[in-house]
Amino acid sequence: MKEYDYLIVGAGLYGAVMAHELKKKGKKCLVIDRRDHIAGNIYCEDIEGIHVHKYGAHIFHTSDKKIWDYMNQFAEFNNYINSPVAVYKDELYNLPFNMNTFSKMWNIRTPQEAKEIIEKQRKETGITDPQNLEEQALFLGGRDIYEKLIKGYTEKQWGKKVYRTSGIYYQTSAIPICLR
Ligand SMILES: Cc1cc2nc3c(=O)[nH]c(=O)nc-3n(C[C@H](O)[C@H](O)[C@H](O)COP(=O)(O)OP(=O)(O)OC[C@H]3O[C@@H](n4cnc5c(N)ncnc54)[C@H](O)[C@@H]3O)c2cc1C
Repeated sequence: MKEYDYLIVGAGLYGAVMAHELKKKGKKCLVIDRRDHIAGNIYCEDIEGIHVHKYGAHIFHTSDKKIWDYMNQFAEFNNYINSPVAVYKDELYNLPFNMNTFSKMWNIRTPQEAKEIIEKQRKETGITDPQNLEEQALFLGGRDIYEKLIKGYTEKQWGKKVYRTSGIYYQTSAIPICLR
């Protein structure tokens, strides 16, 4: 008789969830990882009382109650609220982009004004069939949002020029813009 039903390579979130769900269905799994710890990229170490995210900060976010409830069976979440700020040429902008961001960027006050500027800038790009992440971001948000709030961050994160990055990320999710 075989010892395991599944060999799962990688003890990150994906491998862990797979192993958990398969075990509930009566399957026997072996999870292996080339790292000397579990958790993959979300692995944390307690260093002098500080919870350090070894591979970079990870913040869990979902708008899906089913996923939220699923995760809460394993861990107690704290009430950390992420309030990131983007720095572009010594200017600070709120992220995700909201009316504070747009008011500062364009000196406007209402969501309607913001919508009109975004729409105008989107049209000005002339892009109708985006072929990479740069074109996709311009197509969805227009020139200012792309140049000031997406380009630098994305190039730093992926370590390459945005126009050399696939547009797949924004094809599945719109740029998060909050008009409040
Ligand atoms: C800096 C940073 C910040 C991030 N922030 C967020 C965030 O805020 N929110 C969010 O939702 N997501 C974030 N992510 C993405 C997040 O890391 C993933 O969503 C999630 O951790 C992926 O889980 P995973 O199991 O798919 O992969 P991983 O966590 O990468 O786990 C894969 C595991 O497989 C192992 N492995 C791979 N190949 C082999 C092999 N051949 N043999 C043995 N072992 C192998 C690796 O060692 C690794 O431990 C961030 C990623 C990074 C890098």
